[in-house]
Amino acid sequence: MTTTPPILLNQPPTRPPYFHSLLQRQAPADGEAMADTRSKKQRDILCLFDVDGTLTPARKKVDPEVDLFLKDLRQRVKIGVVGGSDYSKIAEQLGDGDDVIQKFDYVFAENGTVQYKDGRLLSRQAIQNHLGEELLQDLINFCLSYIALLKLPKKRGTFIEFRNGMLNISPIGRSCSPEERIEFSELDKVCYETT
Ligand SMILES: [Mg+2]
Repeated sequence: MTTTPPILLNQPPTRPPYFHSLLQRQAPADGEAMADTRSKKQRDILCLFDVDGTLTPARKKVDPEVDLFLKDLRQRVKIGVVGGSDYSKIAEQLGDGDDVIQKFDYVFAENGTVQYKDGRLLSRQAIQNHLGEELLQDLINFCLSYIALLKLPKKRGTFIEFRNGMLNISPIGRSCSPEERIEFSELDKVCYETT
C-alpha cells in the first residue's frame, strides 16, 4: 500500500540566502551619514526598483526588513526607485517626510516624468505642455463619459487624478478602500482573461 505525501498549501516563500545574510549585518542607522565606499565600477551599477507590489504592497509602507536590505545594497551599488504615483505618495510609502530622496540615489515619480538625483529635483515634465489643453480635455471628457456608463460592484470617487506627467484613470475611483481595490483588481483580471 502506498501513502501519498501530504501537500502543504500556502507554504511561506523562502528567502534567498543572499537576502537572509544581508539581514544579519549592520546597516547604517537612520539619519547616519553614509560614507560612499562604493568603487567606481559599483557606482556605475544602478539597481532600479518598482514601488507598489515590489518594495511595498500597493499603497502601503515599506517593511523594515526591505528597508534594511536597501540600506545594505546601497553600500555596494547605486539604488533608485521608479513608481507611477506622485512624489508625495512614494515618499510616504518609503520613509518619513523627504527621507526617500536621502535613502535612494535616484527617485523617479510619475513613471519618470519627475526625477530626483542625489537628494535634489532634476526636472519635472507637465502633460498639459506636451499634449495641449484641447487634446487633454478631449481625453479627459472621453474617459469620464466612458466611466459614467460602467456598472461595477463598487464605485467610489476620484476617477481621474491629474499628475504632472500623466493621468491616472481609475474606473472604481482612487478613493476606494484597499479591500475594494483588491475586489476590482480581481474583476479586472477576469475581464482581461475573457476578452
Ligand atoms: Mg508595481
